[in-house]
Amino acid sequence: MISYGKQNISQKDIDNVIEVLKSDFLTQGPTIENFERYVANYCGAKYAVAVTNATSALHIACLAAGLKKGDILWTSPNTFVASANCGLYCGADIDFVDIDDNTYNMSIAELEQKLKETKIKPKVVIPVHFAGQSCDMLRLKELAEKYGFMIIEDASHATGADYLKTKIGSCQYSDMTVFSFHPVKIVTTGEGGMVLTNSKELYDKLILFRSHGITRNKDFMKRESDGPWYYEQVDLGFNYRMTDIQAALGISQMARIDEFVAKRRYLANRYNELLKNMPLKLPYQSQNTNSSWHIYVVRADFSKLKITKQELFAKMREKGINLNLHYIPVHTQPYYIKLGFNKGDFPISEKYYEEVFTLPLFYDLTDKQQEYVVKCLGGILKNA
Ligand SMILES: *Cc1c(COP(=O)(O)O)cnc(C)c1O
Repeated sequence: MISYGKQNISQKDIDNVIEVLKSDFLTQGPTIENFERYVANYCGAKYAVAVTNATSALHIACLAAGLKKGDILWTSPNTFVASANCGLYCGADIDFVDIDDNTYNMSIAELEQKLKETKIKPKVVIPVHFAGQSCDMLRLKELAEKYGFMIIEDASHATGADYLKTKIGSCQYSDMTVFSFHPVKIVTTGEGGMVLTNSKELYDKLILFRSHGITRNKDFMKRESDGPWYYEQVDLGFNYRMTDIQAALGISQMARIDEFVAKRRYLANRYNELLKNMPLKLPYQSQNTNSSWHIYVVRADFSKLKITKQELFAKMREKGINLNLHYIPVHTQPYYIKLGFNKGDFPISEKYYEEVFTLPLFYDLTDKQQEYVVKCLGGILKNA
C-alpha cells in the first residue's frame, strides 16, 4: 500500500537513539537542550522549547501569550483541529477566517475585513502554513501591529520551509512558531513538538508551563529558598516534557532536514509536470515562499466528473494507493457546531473540502511509484 506520508529512519538515527538509551538520562538530560539549540540555530530564532507534541506546544504558546477566558483566538478553518482546540483549552473563544482560494492559507484580505468589522478583536491569531507554504507574514504582521494581536505560527507542515529568505521558525514576523515532529511531518521524534520565540519573557513562561509551573530559578520565586532541595510552583503548568530518547532522534533527523525537504520539492515539481494535463487544480505557490511540501493536494470539480470522491478513493485503494484529505473544515466538526458554528459560515474552505484530496508524498516515494500513482489517477479520471 502506498500511503500519503511516511517517516524515514536511517541506521544513524537508530544508533543515535541507542546512545541515549545507554546514557544516564532518558529524560530531562542534556539531549533536550542540544535538540532545542539545534532547531533554534537552524531557524535563526533565539529560543526553543521542546514538548510532547505540537498540540501541547500550541497550548503552552497560547498560555504564554496570556490567552484566557473572555479572549478570542482566530485561526484558519482549513487545519487540523489542534490549531483551534488550543484556544478552548485556555477557556478562550474561537473564531475562524476563511481561506484564500489559491493558497488555501488564511486569507489576509478576509482577515483585514473581519478585523475592521468586529468589535471584539482577537488576542491571538494562529496562521497555519498549509502544506508547507508560508502565509503572507508581512501583511499579517502589519495587521498585528495595527490591531494589537499576537501571532503564533502553526508551522506543523513547514519545518524547513522558507519565507522571504528566512527560515520558518525564525519568528521574524511572529511572537512564536510551533513545529510538529509527528511521523508524517517533515522530521520526526515519534511524537514531539516545539515552540520557538525571540522573546526571553515568552521563553521563561513556556519553560514554566511545560513542567507543572514549577521553577528552580530564584528570579521567579515568590519566597526565599528553604535550601538546595527547594522549588516553587508559581503557576499552573503541565507535564509536557519531551524525552531525551525522542530528542536524540530529533537531532539526528534535523541533520537530514535539507535532504528531506529537497526530495519533497523534487517530488512536488514532478507531480506538477506529470499532472499538468489532467482536469485538476494543482497547488499554487505564491511569491516570497518556498514550501517544504508536507503534503501535495489537488482539486477536482466532481460535479463535472462521472465519479464521486468516495468512488475515486475506493478505486485508488483497489490499486494499492491510499489517498487522504486535508482538511475537513474545523468549524463543521460536531463539537464546533455545538459551539454555535454552522455549515456555510466559511464557504471557501467548504467548497475546497468538496474538491480536494491528497496524493502520496514522502521521502522514500520512488519515481516509479509516483508514476504509478499518476497513471492510476489518470486512468480513473479519463473514464470518469
Ligand atoms: C499535525 C498537526 C498538528 C498537531 O501535531 P501533533 O504533534 O500531532 O500534536 C497541529 N496543527 C497542524 C496544522 C498539524 O498538521
